[in-house]
Amino acid sequence: MTEFPAQTSLRSDLLDQETAAPARPALRVVHETDGIDLAAAEAAAGRFLDALGISTESESLRGTPGRMARAYAELFSPRPFDLTTFPNDEGYDELVLARRIPVRTVCEHHLLPVVGVAHVGYLPGARILGLSKLARVVEYFACRPQVQERLTKQVADWLQTHLEPKGVGVVIEAEHSCMTLRGVQATGSDTLTSTLLGLLRSDARSRGEFLALTRVTP
Ligand SMILES: [Zn+2]
Repeated sequence: MTEFPAQTSLRSDLLDQETAAPARPALRVVHETDGIDLAAAEAAAGRFLDALGISTESESLRGTPGRMARAYAELFSPRPFDLTTFPNDEGYDELVLARRIPVRTVCEHHLLPVVGVAHVGYLPGARILGLSKLARVVEYFACRPQVQERLTKQVADWLQTHLEPKGVGVVIEAEHSCMTLRGVQATGSDTLTSTLLGLLRSDARSRGEFLALTRVTP
């Protein structure tokens, strides 16, 4: 979070006023930008294409600068969500793992697509998380220009801070268009990053289980 102090903010709301204690507020996660100026982005996209020698005079390309602006605005606008947690009444203490969560982002060096999957797991502490929220956390941090290493660590750190589990593990496998479409043209290569925290890092059995379950299939 600290990398984006101007772009993110968190506020807490009571999700359900009728729910009896223990009233732990659901965390409303919203993404604030400095404001997207679509008209300015469209004008700049037109100049960008022009500078690259691409004419936008044909009927087919006339709307391209506007479509570019709206496409990037969408990529950089994650949906807000509530981080709903529940008491771990059953004392469940085994791994909770969501595999193959889609990852779609752009690299911050070339603004070219990065597409892959994330495996996100945790060892529950006092609270457990609505399962779909693991995917929402990934989406939240993916909706901005990224580097894969930071994205992986941000998802893990955020869950550690807000869920306070006994351990967190995040593995991301992704293909970077800036490597496959240009440059070294390493078609088919993907990049693997991982962050392990708490018991998933320090306990050999938990760590081994997590890594076995998230292993890239040969
Ligand atoms: Zn790149």
